[in-house]
Amino acid sequence: MTRNINIKMPDKVKKIVGILYRSNHEAFIVGGCVRDSILGIKPKDWDITTSAEPEEIIELFNSEGCTTVPTGIKHGTITVVIEKEPFEITTYRIDGEYKDSRHPSEVKFTKSLEEDLKRRDYTINAMAYNDKVGLVDYFNGQEDIDKKLIRAVGEPKKRLEEDALRMLRAHRFSAQLGFKIEKETSEAIKALSVNIRQVSIERIREEFNKILLSNNLVQLFQLYENGLLQHFFGELANCFERSKKKGDISIYSHVYLIELLQSIEKELSLRWAILINYINEFSYNLEDTLVKPNQCKYSTTSQDCASNILKRMKYDNKTIERVLVLAKYQEVIISDKVAIKRILNTTGIENFKALVEIKEAKIKLQSENDINEGMKEIVRIKEEFYEIISSNQCFTIKDLAVKGEDIIKLGVKPGKFIGEILNTLLDMVINEPEINEKHILIGKVKEQMDTREI
Ligand code: ATP
Ligand code: MG
Repeated sequence: MTRNINIKMPDKVKKIVGILYRSNHEAFIVGGCVRDSILGIKPKDWDITTSAEPEEIIELFNSEGCTTVPTGIKHGTITVVIEKEPFEITTYRIDGEYKDSRHPSEVKFTKSLEEDLKRRDYTINAMAYNDKVGLVDYFNGQEDIDKKLIRAVGEPKKRLEEDALRMLRAHRFSAQLGFKIEKETSEAIKALSVNIRQVSIERIREEFNKILLSNNLVQLFQLYENGLLQHFFGELANCFERSKKKGDISIYSHVYLIELLQSIEKELSLRWAILINYINEFSYNLEDTLVKPNQCKYSTTSQDCASNILKRMKYDNKTIERVLVLAKYQEVIISDKVAIKRILNTTGIENFKALVEIKEAKIKLQSENDINEGMKEIVRIKEEFYEIISSNQCFTIKDLAVKGEDIIKLGVKPGKFIGEILNTLLDMVINEPEINEKHILIGKVKEQMDTREI
């Protein structure tokens, strides 16, 4: 079922392939860029595979005046920089025995493209192409693209046993491309899922992020069904287990979660905040003891629980901070302008916008009547928010018309008391925006000093 296929390679890639051929080596674009080109998706990068050995690559491209960087020389990868753009060139290789469900003990270079393609994980990732030879597709990758299938190259069990990360990659490609994992490959994942524990949490996190940012969030549930999620995100796996056992159709069902996540902008913190909130709500509303999400009970500790999950997965502090704010304020009632300003004071503008977006997405999943009512609320919140921002209303201490030094000038000793006074003033100004003028606020401070209220 091979078609004559023509992939339009960028000029710089053609140049690299040309240089290698002129020195009697073979060279092909390979992997993700071939797959994406066939699918009509713009490739993120163009990887090149060649029969030339690393030393030869370095010598050849240096003599062409290009910079070469031995990025992964042990595995045969050299980065060649052409007019400031880096390209990875890797020597055809065969991976030796896999020792720890992740890394081959050694790699051997080979002159056979077929051997190099054989070591790759999935048929759709195991194709090579150049203009001279055309598409090289020993494992029917093109056919699997047509059938929308993720299928291991060779015997699935053996391939997934070699490198446990491949199991997550299958789900990730499935999520990104909307493909199904072929039956035998999926069964092998189920049988070997525990091996995912051998993979570093950073690698797991990167694949998980890609799933979370894809269009096919049902893969989150598939991760659970194939037994992977349990090993790195037990809290969510337990929620799914209960949702499945009870056949839940409420907001506690995985179906609801998936729909909600999918309706939200593809931003990691937003989607994570929804996950966190789902787990918390779940624990809070758990009347029975069927399955308790690990250590997660809705209480003052729910923030700790969220923070534990994110720290365990080694997210950066900025992401953790934003997710925690968005999770914490997700259910907060935004009754009027004063409430908006109070929330803005703690969350900041960007987080507030994200909170409204989450609220809106949740409303849109309600029944028709509730949608109408809910959307009226959203429109009101957006209008009030717009008014606050466009009229430059004050909602933080630094927006106040007086500064700490103005208060010190009135004879108040520097120290924590100044902060308290400013907070009291902020409270007043949030309620009455028109009093945010220096002389009025100074007057208020004096008044209160006289009555010793502050
Ligand atoms: P993306 O578009 O997300 O970068 P990709 O297919 O290019 O997807 P990479 O991780 O960049 O994925 O890897 C490039 C190629 O290397 C893959 O297409 C595949 O052929 C091979 N590969 C990568 N990781 C593995 C692995 N763990 N096991 C086997 N082959 C792999
Ligand atoms: Mg890639």
